[in-house]
Amino acid sequence: MEQIQCIYCGDFFDPSPRHKKQSACRNPECQRAKKAAWQRDKIHTDPDYRLNQKLGQKQWAKANPGYWREYRRRNPEKAERNRALQAIRNRKARSSPSDAKMDASVIAKMDASKLHNFEILGQFWLIPVIAKMDALKVNIIKIPIC
Ligand SMILES: [Zn+2]
Repeated sequence: MEQIQCIYCGDFFDPSPRHKKQSACRNPECQRAKKAAWQRDKIHTDPDYRLNQKLGQKQWAKANPGYWREYRRRNPEKAERNRALQAIRNRKARSSPSDAKMDASVIAKMDASKLHNFEILGQFWLIPVIAKMDALKVNIIKIPIC
């Protein structure tokens, strides 16, 4: 049987004869990415599923008070990253859905005032438009021209 290319990692794999439309290989990371994509799609297309998820999360948060505050305290990097990603989602939601092209609005500017010995113009999150790759935090610094 012909091999299929995994849409998440790009590796080629042998498709299972039982599943016709396989898109992800057996790599656990790719399976997780596939499940997350399925849930994202389900939340967008199925109002009942969306409501159920929301209720479930609310109940869970009620049973685990302070969990997310503690999580943000223990993981400031992740909390900052999530804020950046949410800012991008908010901007995307405000712009037209057909406007998928990369523009300045998908780059969230962070901590522009942080200064060190060298001149930092700002901290940015690079968010790949292609799935799979993780967001990357970078400092943009000014290089003096000699
Ligand atoms: Zn894969």
